[in-house]
Amino acid sequence: MKKKKNNQLRTCSVCRRKDNINQFTRFVIEQNNLVIDKNRDKKGRGMNICKEGDCISKINFNLVKKALKTELKQIKIRQD
Ligand SMILES: [Zn+2]
Repeated sequence: MKKKKNNQLRTCSVCRRKDNINQFTRFVIEQNNLVIDKNRDKKGRGMNICKEGDCISKINFNLVKKALKTELKQIKIRQD
């Protein structure tokens, strides 16, 4: 049996840590809100944040702006 290829690496937009894709939560901008892309199937530019630790709580406006090159006036994180 072949080993399943599982080498999709992502970089955390907060701490720049590189790890496997399943160690991160993907966020995208949707209708001016920062939303969690649970299934990783939303369109558009996304940013990856560590699931573990406090990176998610360190998300701020400038970081989102830089990571997603967005023109948002403010960010709201929607977690539904
Ligand atoms: Zn991180």
